[in-house]
Order: sequence, then C-alpha cells, then structure tokens
Amino acid sequence: MIISNIEHIGIAVKNLKEAIKMYEDLFGLPCYNIEEISDQKIRTAFFRIGQTKIELLESTDPEGPIGKFIEKKGEGVHHIAFAVENLADTLREVEAKGFQLIDKHPRPGAEGLNIVFLHPKSTGGVLLELCEDRLIKK
Ligand code: ZN
Repeated sequence: MIISNIEHIGIAVKNLKEAIKMYEDLFGLPCYNIEEISDQKIRTAFFRIGQTKIELLESTDPEGPIGKFIEKKGEGVHHIAFAVENLADTLREVEAKGFQLIDKHPRPGAEGLNIVFLHPKSTGGVLLELCEDRLIKK
C-alpha cells in the first residue's frame, strides 16, 4: 500500500445546514462544496484543512447507511479516509492480508474520488475508507 495522507474525516450530522453553519463559525472557513451522492443516500459538505478535508454527511433516507448510523450511535465521527495510490491493487493487497472489505471493487465517491470501505469488524471498530483520485490511472 502506498498511503499518502488522511484525505478526510467523515462526520455524520442530522442537519447539514446547521452543521455547515457551526463549522464555518468554528473554523472561520467557508464550506467549499456540497454534493449529493444518491447511491449512498447522502448529502455531503466539505471543508479543507491543509491537505485533509472534513466531510459532513447528512442522510437523505433513514434507511441509508448514515441514517442507520445516526439511529444507532447518534451524530459524530463516522469514518476516516486515507489517500492511496492505485486503489485496485491496494484493495487486493489488504484483502490478501485478511482485512474484510465492504466494497469488493472501487466505486465513485464524492469529490471525484474512487473509494472503498473496509469493514470495521476487521479494523478495530473503526470504519476506514481508502480513496484515490479517479483521474490518476496508474
Ligand atoms: Zn468519506
């Protein structure tokens, strides 16, 4: 695995508009992107802090992954995402090491990134995401 940095930290929120306002107030920085990802049933908002982003996640469907997460655990940190080179190879590598995958293949996520999630059962209870720029083909 060639890992470069923490790409973003995903935070589940009940109300995106209110959360954006709170973080804009806290950071003194504007949210620079709001995006709806319909296949994940979420709306996301992004802040850039150095080379790491904060990704706020609001559910658009109570049956979606973020809706269920908030129902079970309430608002809060949802996942940590790492930027890696060559996501497809990395995926095969971590699977060979015995980590459990949620996604068997890279899929499009927010911000033009291909993403996969590793199952928290195999990563000490933390939901980890790996992502790679879609435009970089290696
Ligand atoms: Zn994410």
